[in-house]
Amino acid sequence: MNGLRHDDPELFKLAEQEKKRIAGTLNLIAAENHPPASILEVLGSVFNEKTIEGYPGRRFHAGCVYVDQVESLAIDRAKQLFGAEYANVQPHSGTSANLAVYFSVLSRGDRVLAMSLPHGGHLSHGHTASISSQCFDFRHYTVSRDTERLDYDRIRDMALAFRPKMMVAGASAYPRLIDYKIMADIAKEVSAWLLADMAHLAGLVAGEAIPSPVPFCDAVTFTGYKTMMGGRGGVILAREDLGPKINRAVFPGTQGTSPVSMIAAKALAFKLAKTDGFRRIQQKTVETAGHLAQCLKAAGVCLVTGGTDNHQVLVDLNGTGMTGIRVQESLEAAGILCNRNVVPADTRVEKGAGGIRFGTAGLAARGMGKTQMTAIAGWILRILAAPDDPEGVKEIRTEVRSLCQQFPVAAYGPPE
Ligand SMILES: *Cc1c(COP(=O)(O)O)cnc(C)c1O
Repeated sequence: MNGLRHDDPELFKLAEQEKKRIAGTLNLIAAENHPPASILEVLGSVFNEKTIEGYPGRRFHAGCVYVDQVESLAIDRAKQLFGAEYANVQPHSGTSANLAVYFSVLSRGDRVLAMSLPHGGHLSHGHTASISSQCFDFRHYTVSRDTERLDYDRIRDMALAFRPKMMVAGASAYPRLIDYKIMADIAKEVSAWLLADMAHLAGLVAGEAIPSPVPFCDAVTFTGYKTMMGGRGGVILAREDLGPKINRAVFPGTQGTSPVSMIAAKALAFKLAKTDGFRRIQQKTVETAGHLAQCLKAAGVCLVTGGTDNHQVLVDLNGTGMTGIRVQESLEAAGILCNRNVVPADTRVEKGAGGIRFGTAGLAARGMGKTQMTAIAGWILRILAAPDDPEGVKEIRTEVRSLCQQFPVAAYGPPE
């Protein structure tokens, strides 16, 4: 980054510090990952220059001969990787992708049945703080009080009573698999469209570590930067017949020009997802999460649903006297990054949330597995037992740094 060093030393220094931060900490934030260097290269490449409106072969500006090929490559690879009939690679984010799917087939005020945010759903699934709730009439299903898992009989009852035009299957914080077949049966019964939002899961699906929603859904959305290990931005997969509607809903419906550098990074991520290395990382992500769950559970920590089937482990702190924010901050001081999260039946949403969410994708991307997870779980347990012990935090920080040395982030190398 010699150009940046010259033009803006202040920003350059921040970038160097950010690299060091990433290299020297353990990232257990479930919504993040470490993309390979080639992804970062293409994001900062010549493809940033071109303004595109429209779709390959039908642009509003001249000079699109190569960027048309970039977008077509991304579309073809997305379709091939996920076995989808149609793909749109222009959404700026997962939220934009969801909005475009809603606006493609729904009219203002139409009913949508989605998962409740405090039970694991996403803001863009009709939360009152999201514009989605102002445009459509959302109702939310929850997890079962006893099992903390989706209760499909109740979802079916709600669908029969509410008669939604669309159902959304997908979550930000749900450690179990979603049965897309049952969701599709329910949607069919009430003649609703079914959208699966696999933002968190796309990499696991692409690496065949968990089942795919694609065969069961009318549309599937996801983002490139979570388990997918790519750049940022969203993608929509769908049945062929929805393609023209979704194309219009993305551009010009909800977006203007889409950054070609981001589209190119999507194309690259889809290529990398076909490699054995990527598949191994996805398998390891799930195995390592399962191992973290076992270690925590064996020590008496309360987990939402008692375990995990994907990359997430959700700790329920209700009843421990600790809040999510307090544990998150102590872990951060020790070099272990995660996020506080609301959990089902949370009694302390306002006081910093009653849960902690861990994800293992970032560790697996560094090549870590069960052995390293055993050590990390031990450090997490020490912090949970004594979040305000500065000596303990300091000791763990040193061990974290040495583990980071042994397992460098590919794009940045080992910490100094
Ligand atoms: C992360 C996430 C998104 C995408 O979020 P953006 O920040 O808009 O990219 C969408 N849906 C779910 C379920 C998510 O977890």
